[in-house]
Amino acid sequence: MKKIKELLIGTNNKGKLKEIRNLLPKNIKTYSTSDFQLKSPKENGKSFEENSIIKSKYFSNKTNLICLADDSGLEIDLLNKKPGIYSARWAGTRSDFQKAIKRVYKQLSKKDKLWREKKIKARFICALSICYLDKKIIVVKGKIEGFISNEPKGNNGFGYDPIFIPNKKNKTFAQMQPSKKYKLDHRFKAFKKIKRFL
Ligand code: IMP
Repeated sequence: MKKIKELLIGTNNKGKLKEIRNLLPKNIKTYSTSDFQLKSPKENGKSFEENSIIKSKYFSNKTNLICLADDSGLEIDLLNKKPGIYSARWAGTRSDFQKAIKRVYKQLSKKDKLWREKKIKARFICALSICYLDKKIIVVKGKIEGFISNEPKGNNGFGYDPIFIPNKKNKTFAQMQPSKKYKLDHRFKAFKKIKRFL
């Protein structure tokens, strides 16, 4: 397979864009969706993989560039894996993650008033896909297991970072140095699998 020289990162999420740029080899010239003022497509897939492919296909078609796209989210077992593929949507059109986090806590309390005394299992999932110019597509998945913090903690990162504590750690993602989080998370794990296709 030919080495990729230029690549569009198919996300309108600044947090993800930063993380993905950090993971990519520096010799690849990267573009972002904002360079082309592209809106995101409707994510009507039923899985992280399907939604990731919807994005990489759509952005690649629009720009004629090879596109790497991410679809990710937080699954909470007690909430039957919600917010899951709806993780971004729980934050509303203004991407208000305080609101999304409040909703998580409200739903947990609804399920079990004493949830704070228990270990609430959760995981972040990331599906990365690449859509090539010949329309061939590859997709991989990475995940990190952990649990939900009793209260939001930390100011780093984005999205649900303040409420997620990875297993064997005692800090939320938002309390960790970004460079530490990057090397641990679901996106990094998916990236390890997709690296050989770049
Ligand atoms: P989508 O993949 O654009 O549909 O959005 C996924 C949503 O999941 C993001 O908006 C984030 O809120 C959340 N998410 C995905 N990865 C992370 C992460 O590494 N930290 C915190 N939140 C994340």
